[in-house]
Amino acid sequence: MPRQRRVVAQPFEIRESAIQGRGAFATRSIRKGERVAEYIGERISWKEADRRYDDTQMKRHHTFLFSVTSRTVIDGAVRGNDSRFINHSCAPNCEAVDDGGRIFIESLRAIAEGEELTYDYAFERDDTHTAEDEALYACHCGAVACRGTILEPPKVPLPHSHHSAARHVRRHKPVDAADTPKNSRRSSGTAKRSARQAVEGKRR
Ligand SMILES: [Zn+2]
Repeated sequence: MPRQRRVVAQPFEIRESAIQGRGAFATRSIRKGERVAEYIGERISWKEADRRYDDTQMKRHHTFLFSVTSRTVIDGAVRGNDSRFINHSCAPNCEAVDDGGRIFIESLRAIAEGEELTYDYAFERDDTHTAEDEALYACHCGAVACRGTILEPPKVPLPHSHHSAARHVRRHKPVDAADTPKNSRRSSGTAKRSARQAVEGKRR
């Protein structure tokens, strides 16, 4: 059976979150593997994203950019939907999936009504990030395994770097040890993805 390519009825509502600002909360129980939202917004170039958003001018990170390819980024702040309010967590119950260039948020496990939906933003880390930049991306998800930042784990070389940080698809399945960069951190038995895989993500 082909996977649904649109989300028929949004199974969550937006309200105040303990993680930060507003968040998305399940309005019914959600099965494992359900597509709960499509991440939509204006599709723009990285150049345009950098023009719109300058990290050095902001007190907090802007969280509405989603990196699709090395050229294209979705700006959820323009013509976006409620998916942009789904918060980051280091121990998420959803994940972002790239389906032919469209980004869907899918549940990683069964989710009970009332639970907050989260996924790992896996923000791309820029080579030029300073300690102050790191503070800008501090994570308050509250997970036991919280890595303290919504950036990708440090010391993972990226094939390209951008000034603006953006969410991107991240694999949640362990990868071959041979594919794992030597310096990458490991947590709870899950191998961290190589940079290429992190950017290429999970394609279906
Ligand atoms: Zn966290």
